[in-house]
Amino acid sequence: MKKEDTLFCNKCGKRILMENGLLKEDCVKITKSWGYFSDKDGRRDTFCLCESCYDEITAAFVLPVPQEEQTEYV
Ligand SMILES: [Zn+2]
Repeated sequence: MKKEDTLFCNKCGKRILMENGLLKEDCVKITKSWGYFSDKDGRRDTFCLCESCYDEITAAFVLPVPQEEQTEYV
């Protein structure tokens, strides 16, 4: 199994199901390249969150995540 075939939720450690390099369950993958105006200039962070951890984190937001109906699926 190739390394990129395995994804884990960084918050709870749950394995995100993948098959042939394709996600079999939805998750949030965030890549952030920190820029000059941060203390992390030149650093790139990538992490994943499973759906339940996403719900947990966004539920703690002071301002709720704006939700809109998606009419076109890509
Ligand atoms: Zn999780």
